[in-house]
This record gives sequence, C-alpha cells and structure tokens, in this order.
Amino acid sequence: MKIMTKPAEMQKASLAWQRRGESVALVPTMGALHEGHVALIRRAAKLADRVVVSAYVNPTQFNSRLDFKKYPHTSDWDFRCARQAGADVLFRPKSLYAKDASTWVEEGARARGRCGAWRPDHFRGVATVVVKLLGIVQPQVVVFGEKDLQQCEVVERVVRDLFLPVRIVRHPTIREADGLALSSRNLRLNSIQRRLAGRWAGAVREAAGSGARVGAVKLRVLLRGVNGIRLEYAEVVEGHLCAAAYVGKIRLIDHRRCREKS
Ligand code: AMP
Repeated sequence: MKIMTKPAEMQKASLAWQRRGESVALVPTMGALHEGHVALIRRAAKLADRVVVSAYVNPTQFNSRLDFKKYPHTSDWDFRCARQAGADVLFRPKSLYAKDASTWVEEGARARGRCGAWRPDHFRGVATVVVKLLGIVQPQVVVFGEKDLQQCEVVERVVRDLFLPVRIVRHPTIREADGLALSSRNLRLNSIQRRLAGRWAGAVREAAGSGARVGAVKLRVLLRGVNGIRLEYAEVVEGHLCAAAYVGKIRLIDHRRCREKS
C-alpha cells in the first residue's frame, strides 16, 4: 500500500488504473481508523479492483476549534489498518483548500434539522470536501457509514443533484459490545465517560424500541437526570430516532430504526 499526499499524484494513479480497466472505490475518513472504518474498507475491496482510503481532518466541517484541535491523529496505526483491510492507497493530503478557496457545495434540504440545526455549516464543509475528493479520485463507488446517517443523506442528494458519476454505498453501523457506535472521538472518553457513553447508546436503543410516535420523548425521559449526559437533540426522521448528546465535552451521535407499533 502506498501513501500519497498530493492531489495531482493521487488523481494520476487513479486515472491510470481506470485506463487499464480497473475500477476504483473511495472510502473517505478523517483518520484515527477503527473497526467501523475497517468494515467500510473491506466492503470497498469487494466492490472494486482498487481501494483508496482518504484520511483528512477537514477543517471546514468543525464548529468548534477545540474539537478540531483535539481530533485524534494516529497515522502509523492508520497505515497498518488501511493496509490490512485491503486499501491500495492511503491518501493523506496536507490541505484541500487553497488560501483563497472560494467554492462551496451547499445542500439545502437534507442538511436541515438534526445535526444541521446544531452545527451550522457542518454539512457545507462535508459536501465540499466530498466533492473535492470525488474530483481528485474519480471513483466508481464511494462507501459511507450509516453511523453518520444525515451525512449519507446529504451526500446522496449532492451526487444526485450534481449528476456526479459515482455510486454511493451505505454500510451499517459497527458497534461495541455494549451498543456504543464506534467513533474516533471515543478515544477521548475516560473510563467513567465511556460507561456513560454505553448508557447513552442503550437509551437510544430502548427509546427507538418504543416506536416512532414517542421515541424522541422517551429518550428525553430516559436521559433526564442522568449526570454527565447532556442531550442535544432527539428527532424521529423517516422512522429513525436520531439523536446527539454530550458526554463531557465529547459529542456523540446515534440513530436507531424505530420499532413499528401495531
Ligand atoms: P469519520 O472518520 O468519522 O469521518 O468517518 C469516516 C467514514 O466512516 C464515514 O462514512 C462514517 O460514517 C464511517 N464510520 C465511522 N464510524 C463508523 C461506525 N461505527 N460504523 C460504520 N461506519 C462508520
């Protein structure tokens, strides 16, 4: 597996594969790889001849300077993980923004509400960087995790609306034994916070089990008075209970399909 840092070099390699008749899959990440990312890379390797994993902590999708600065970096680990999972290239650009960059991709429907309501411009940053990565790598397939459900919805809409020639594949959320969705930010949880994070995941699951009509209220009730978990939002969208909460300064998101009540 190769590491590439220059967009022009990355694009040249990808186009050379494609000229030889090989298909390319892209897995965009922000590094600090875990089993959730590994599952996406393995899936990508089944879908295409070549797999590019990008690892780029995209500054424009962060709302908090602290969150950006504290985002974990585990570059040697990422290299080993990506190689073992079957990647051909780990694309680690230094920056994808020229100093005077002035082009943005803004999706105006799926990016509203839920995380979009609490993280202004977050999805603008996501959509912009994804379009940049698609322009560089020009893959036939791009794999995203359903863990970031709203992100999947936004990217799917952007690809549809801009007629981008790429297929989007969603991969299910990979969870710890106690139900907590794997996330790079989990590395920042101390042991007490980690237990609370498990409790949060359990509450989302239980609330979704009570059905779409009462799921959001139920989650509020379950978390009311739990010291150390601060619910940010809980919304049911298209049969999924979607929620975000803070454990200490660490923001966690989750979603579960609501049980259909007869
Ligand atoms: P991130 O590095 O957090 O930006 O995530 C990169 C990709 O991995 C995104 O498509 C995420 O949705 C996906 N991902 C992150 N965590 C998980 C997980 N626990 N299960 C499945 N996919 C995940």
